[in-house]
Amino acid sequence: MTSPGEGRDVDVVVVGAGGGGLTAAIAAAEAGASVALLEKLDRPGGNTYVSTGSIPAAGTRYQRAAGVEDVPERMAADLLRQSGAHDAEHLVRLLAGESAGLVEWLVEEHGVDLRLITDYRHVGHSVPRLHAPPDRRGASLVRDLVAAAGRLGVEVVAGNPVAGLLTEDDAVTGVRVSGERSGDHVLRAGAVVLAANGFGNNKKMIERWLPEAAATRYLGAEGSTGEAVEWAEALGARLLNMGAYQGYAAVAYPHGSIVSWTTVEKGGFLLAPDGSRIGDESVGYSGFAAEVARRTEQSWVVFDTRIRDFVAGNEPEFADLVAFGGVKEADGAEGIARVIGCSPEAVEKAVAGQRQAAESGGADVTGRSDFPMGPLREPYCCVRSVPALFHTQGGVDVGRHAQVVRENGRPVRGLYAVGGVTGGLSGREGARGYSSGNGLLSAVGLGRLAGASAALA
Ligand SMILES: Cc1cc2nc3c(=O)[nH]c(=O)nc-3n(C[C@H](O)[C@H](O)[C@H](O)COP(=O)(O)OP(=O)(O)OC[C@H]3O[C@@H](n4cnc5c(N)ncnc54)[C@H](O)[C@@H]3O)c2cc1C
Repeated sequence: MTSPGEGRDVDVVVVGAGGGGLTAAIAAAEAGASVALLEKLDRPGGNTYVSTGSIPAAGTRYQRAAGVEDVPERMAADLLRQSGAHDAEHLVRLLAGESAGLVEWLVEEHGVDLRLITDYRHVGHSVPRLHAPPDRRGASLVRDLVAAAGRLGVEVVAGNPVAGLLTEDDAVTGVRVSGERSGDHVLRAGAVVLAANGFGNNKKMIERWLPEAAATRYLGAEGSTGEAVEWAEALGARLLNMGAYQGYAAVAYPHGSIVSWTTVEKGGFLLAPDGSRIGDESVGYSGFAAEVARRTEQSWVVFDTRIRDFVAGNEPEFADLVAFGGVKEADGAEGIARVIGCSPEAVEKAVAGQRQAAESGGADVTGRSDFPMGPLREPYCCVRSVPALFHTQGGVDVGRHAQVVRENGRPVRGLYAVGGVTGGLSGREGARGYSSGNGLLSAVGLGRLAGASAALA
């Protein structure tokens, strides 16, 4: 680590050690800055730790090796098709353009193990472009990022909650730290990177910005309490897409792990407690979460043993759910009805509807027509699940180097923001605009830009 510039304790303070903060710290240290990476909880990771660690990128050498043709323009068009028009379209184009270099830099320069996923494309993407740890666990991504930061001399300082920003002449000059373990102190710096994620775990902010999700349970990380968005707002930062969020339609209950959406994309569907279909699942796991939440507290994901075995073979988290008994086998519609505790007639109608649509290639009663593995076959599988709010997608505006931008269009000197603190790529409101990987793309993509630029401040 280099010595900090004059009058500073450190060149760059990074607030939060999730995917965005770790990446910002790596980029800043790589550019020769001294870095303090502060994490309020006892361990790094945040939402990144509980995610599947998938980062979308267009035009990588891994895609070329797999014969996938892709370019940033196609990726930006895909994301905007899913999201519709919104306030942060400049960030969609910026990050799509950065994405291939970002993933290759993480893998080749910093030893982060990411592989192109080819067995599914997931919501919003017209070609395979998600790059994820081989075990598809965000914990592995965090482990690799922590190791890369460590090799550059940056340690995560856990148990150090940042309580506010220091400012002088309208510029940010450091942070106040206040916690049981850390005590109260200030750190003066040339630049501060806000990488503290959004406000999913802050009831008041959810009620203010996302009333539609206020009743949906939050299943993201504990640390997303929104203070960084509020500090930036207090400094006049422009706020973008504040009504948008990522939902997830099917979290296994009571297990708490996600029911892989591949079970649905391959041909499964969701049933309400009365055994009827809830709607067209092809809107994606995020958009469908709001539909499920509007209709019912609990639902059941239905698929078959072929799909179960395919997904368990690729996704260890799902294999764990199977091993822990979260996936029940059922013979016929009657068996499913027994698991759910509803009338067999309703389930028979749902199963027959899927069979007819899958055989004819037409649409079922919900309008859905894509069932790539054909009609479900007995024995069936069911998982009890609940819809959830995973993370918020609204936040502050940033420029091309991730500097925070004020309402008047001017940057806040010394202040950068990444990931969940920033306006997301998923539309202006609701959960339908989320494409897979939007969260981590803005965390690690802006993280790299912020770190490199903050190092020069
Ligand atoms: C189950 C699940 C699966 C997901 N899967 C994917 C996926 O595969 N791909 C994808 O792109 N997105 C996914 N997401 C979303 C993704 O996880 C987030 O968008 C992304 O991790 C955000 O990264 P971040 O660095 O902004 O925040 P985080 O990773 O949450 O890191 C923020 C850190 O800041 C810390 N912090 C907060 N406040 C302070 C403070 N005052 N002082 C110091 N530290 C502070 C927090 O404790 C936390 O450690 C998923 C989310 C969930 C919940």
